[in-house]
Amino acid sequence: MLNIKENISLKEFTTFDIGGPARYFVEVESLEDIEEAIAFAREKNIEFFVLAGGSNILFSDDGFDGLIIKMSIKSMTLQGGEMMCGAGVDLMDLLMFASENSLSGGENLTGIPGSVGGAIRGNAGAFGTEMKDIVKEVYALNLDSGDTVVMDNEKCEFAYRNSFFKKNPHYIIISCMLTFTKGEIKDIELAMYNTIAKRNSKQIQGIKSAGSFFVNPTVDEKIQKMFENDTGKKSRQGRVPAGWILEECNLLKKRIGDIQAGIQHANYFINMDEGTAEQVIELSTLAKTRARDEFDVQLKEEVVMAGF
Ligand SMILES: Cc1cc2nc3c(=O)[nH]c(=O)nc-3n(C[C@H](O)[C@H](O)[C@H](O)COP(=O)(O)OP(=O)(O)OC[C@H]3O[C@@H](n4cnc5c(N)ncnc54)[C@H](O)[C@@H]3O)c2cc1C
Repeated sequence: MLNIKENISLKEFTTFDIGGPARYFVEVESLEDIEEAIAFAREKNIEFFVLAGGSNILFSDDGFDGLIIKMSIKSMTLQGGEMMCGAGVDLMDLLMFASENSLSGGENLTGIPGSVGGAIRGNAGAFGTEMKDIVKEVYALNLDSGDTVVMDNEKCEFAYRNSFFKKNPHYIIISCMLTFTKGEIKDIELAMYNTIAKRNSKQIQGIKSAGSFFVNPTVDEKIQKMFENDTGKKSRQGRVPAGWILEECNLLKKRIGDIQAGIQHANYFINMDEGTAEQVIELSTLAKTRARDEFDVQLKEEVVMAGF
């Protein structure tokens, strides 16, 4: 029997520490729980939203007038060099478990907050590795048909911060089969340690944010050249960092209320204290307007908005 709670503050469930209350809130630990939760929402004729690690979400100050389904399927089992993993497993727990079992391949993902399901949906990545590199299959519930489906890596349509699941939000990721190569525990641990050190050198940790606010935009050659001349770095697949665009627009450390565009790079919107969703929207609107006016670039949010 599900324990559906009412009027639960959402800010505690997000790394941004922003958001009003959910009208209903339930934690789900199995496929059956999810089906029951959805039946509840459909019976009441209210919207529902899947929340996992809350590290890529901005909830409205008014909260969410429906059912929040908190993904908590946490199982992990080894099958040779492969791992079956629930969507609600913390990505960090997965990588530690892989390391303890001499499984290599995900070390560059160390330190990315959130769940395995959330990481698959957004094809989360860092330092040249993305979730697509370790996902073999994904098991998902199709909310339209009620069927559970198995999708192999190709069917997941992974691309830069994108996947089939991002494009088709009526699929809920339930679990996945991940694949690794055999490695030495000490080498894996060292690589994970080095990844954390690199992350710490690039971005202050322990701040209240939702990570990169905008995805890195694809730009024309002129802007790519400007970026390369300015930074000495290469643009990747026609993309330049959204943070660089914002800095060129003079927005580094721009603050609206308690929301600030970065400390080290402007694409991390930081909740400096008691920031609100409204202030985030104001700052992102300003950023989008400047990027459009000064670079003719349309920035798109990586952070998911809910309850607006
Ligand atoms: C400090 C910081 C650093 C970060 N660094 C990185 C980085 O280096 N690289 C990177 O790629 N990202 C980074 N991020 C962004 C974030 O960690 C990732 O996007 C993460 O994968 C989101 O997972 P989550 O479980 O927190 O998802 P949530 O924020 O809970 O949800 C995000 C979206 O995914 C959907 N979703 C979640 N679970 C499921 C599921 N099981 N099925 C279907 N849909 C689902 C939700 O409905 C929502 O639309 C960072 C964030 C922070 C705060």
